[in-house]
Amino acid sequence: MPRTARIALNRPLRRLFDYLVPEGMQVTRGQRVQIPFGRQQLTGLVVETDVEPPAGITLKTISHALEDWQALPPETFELLSWASTYYQHPLGECLFTALPPALRRGRPAREKEEDSWTAKSSGSELPANAHRQKALLQWMSQQPGPASTSAIIKAGFTRAQVTGLAGKELIEKAQQDHNQAGALLSPDLRPTLTPAQQNAASQLPAGRKGFDATLLYGITGSGKTEIYLHYLKERLTDTGQALVLVPEINLTPQTVARFRHYFGDRIVVWHSALNDGERLNTWLKVRRGQPVILIGTRSAVLLPFTGLETIIVDEEHDSSYKQGEGFRYSGRDLAVYRAHLNKCPIILGSATPSLESYHNARQDKYRLVKLEERAKKAVPPTLSLLDIRSRPLEGGLSRPALNAIRDTLDRGEQALVFVNRRGYAPVMMCFDCGHMVECPRCDTRLTYHRRDRAMRCHHCDYQAAATSHCPKCQSEAFKPVGQGTERTEDTLAEAFPAVPVVRVDRDSTQRKGSIQAILDKVNSGAPCVLVGTQMLAKGHDFPNVTLVVVVNADGGLFSVDFRAPEQLIQTLLQVSGRAGRGSKAGKVLIQTCHSDHPLLKSLCTENYLSIADQLMAEREQGQFPPFRHMAIFRAEADTMQNSLELLDAIKPSASGPGIETWGPLPALIARRADRHRAQLVLLSNQRGRLNAVLAGICQHLDQQKLPPKVKWMVDVDPLEI
Ligand code: ADP
Ligand code: ZN
Ligand code: ZN
Repeated sequence: MPRTARIALNRPLRRLFDYLVPEGMQVTRGQRVQIPFGRQQLTGLVVETDVEPPAGITLKTISHALEDWQALPPETFELLSWASTYYQHPLGECLFTALPPALRRGRPAREKEEDSWTAKSSGSELPANAHRQKALLQWMSQQPGPASTSAIIKAGFTRAQVTGLAGKELIEKAQQDHNQAGALLSPDLRPTLTPAQQNAASQLPAGRKGFDATLLYGITGSGKTEIYLHYLKERLTDTGQALVLVPEINLTPQTVARFRHYFGDRIVVWHSALNDGERLNTWLKVRRGQPVILIGTRSAVLLPFTGLETIIVDEEHDSSYKQGEGFRYSGRDLAVYRAHLNKCPIILGSATPSLESYHNARQDKYRLVKLEERAKKAVPPTLSLLDIRSRPLEGGLSRPALNAIRDTLDRGEQALVFVNRRGYAPVMMCFDCGHMVECPRCDTRLTYHRRDRAMRCHHCDYQAAATSHCPKCQSEAFKPVGQGTERTEDTLAEAFPAVPVVRVDRDSTQRKGSIQAILDKVNSGAPCVLVGTQMLAKGHDFPNVTLVVVVNADGGLFSVDFRAPEQLIQTLLQVSGRAGRGSKAGKVLIQTCHSDHPLLKSLCTENYLSIADQLMAEREQGQFPPFRHMAIFRAEADTMQNSLELLDAIKPSASGPGIETWGPLPALIARRADRHRAQLVLLSNQRGRLNAVLAGICQHLDQQKLPPKVKWMVDVDPLEI
């Protein structure tokens, strides 16, 4: 009897393909093979062997195996196939997500050697007409480290220009930088744990074997990272692998540096800024079972570890762990499942745990370890509300807030101002005719970006030039309304001309290395004012910041999203946590028009867990997650009617015993990039039942011939509704 194999392809198809296995070829689950598909040769992954193919079909034969080992080892394969069922995403795409781009394209699984370059000169010796070579030298001098040949080409230069400069010895070859070892800190320079840290550390699981989940609730500045370091130092064997998930590596380079001080070149990193060669090389290190400690963002949980001894998820509440498109998995949740499969401990750390994880802790599924003191002498900052009703504001800042900033700077300290919107102002409005400029493609207003005189949509990539008069009635009473980071920056620069005002948002940190330059400036400790978005709330340790001002806390108070209060409290506490991390006490001023709102009041007087208890009671009352499981079918089409029709058609199969449905309704932003979006929400307290219903609907929709412009997707455990 001929041997067969069932193959998954990197296609959004909920089906697999059967092939004959040539004489003498060994194939196993998780192995990469090359197969004929139509007129193409494609790379596939073996899912099953010796299957019974459907009768009456002549099978094609696998061309060859790309290697004789499994690209996806058993636990990784199992994790992905579980995720495919759980998130209702086609298996092929799930499996291929776990391969580095080069291997998805059928390239050989061999280390890629690539040259990196550093500039040795500014190019003054070049002839005047060597514009491109000069531009390349200038570009290189702006990079944080050596630039690889492929990065140079990606930036728009050519290989010939690189060779040209190398020939003239104006650039030189450098060691690959990304995963280079930093200086090891000599053991006696490593801080000893404080008694509170020791107490917390002693409650962490002692063994390496067996699944064991801990929620480490440690207030901001309590030294969670130090605990992770000690934990790994004590528990990880010389041959074992560890995974440390972090929300966004590029924002907090100091975290990686601290790990390198302890573990040197055992530390490798994984994040979106790696190029294909670096990705492949790191992936291979992990696959070969080298004893790495891998610090990575979301997708690192899918790497092919074979000797994983422990997993740490830092800032486990962070929404960036959830993939927002395609294979919509939660990196944190997959990490927990991965720990199950690998039978190893996992630590989820946060100063503001997600209600999901806290719920698990309250149900004794996770052990709860508390760390409620700051590591250094510093005490947690004091928070107070500043009522801004009927107070005059300048750039969104009230007098008392500006005075507090002045006092801080006068004492030689730093202040941080948090604004939740980038750009200059979220709305441009005509005070004669009332016109507000909207995005022509979305149901949103355009944000005014004054630095480059543009109007931009933050929901699609629409952009237009800013005008000084109303586009509708030509009136000149056409003014920005509301606050963005640029506007607050301008106000601060005017009010405090003697100190630097540093803006941190997606616009100001786009260039590689710019965030590092900003952090260096702040860490020098000289008085300055930082103004920025969420980016400033994430994990930074600025010892000389003693004042935090929140320009407006009211955005999340009255939202229709049931997660809004949780997210608001998390953001406010995280940004507050940047104050007073050194030896001086910190102060937080929260500007609001609702200073009597119970949620804001409890923020000033209670700790996070007791606020979380209250939020949890509300979730339970409304039977929202984590008390029920949620999934959303989203549809988008050229008309709202088409979207709603699709969802209306599936609603009967979605409704049944044990499942509640809401909708279908237009999405919060109903039109986005000219697509009309609607959604149908499903809620159930039986995960199995919900899953079965979702699977049935997905299968049904797959077989449906939909109008060409209608698209649908399913989001399990959605973070946005
Ligand atoms: P968290 O991640 O909990 O916000 P960090 O781990 O960043 O806190 O620690 C906050 C600050 O305290 C850092 O500057 C860190 O170096 C310092 N720190 C942590 N633990 C100790 C310790 N045991 N002794 C001295 N300093 C410490
Ligand atoms: Zn007008
Ligand atoms: Zn738009």
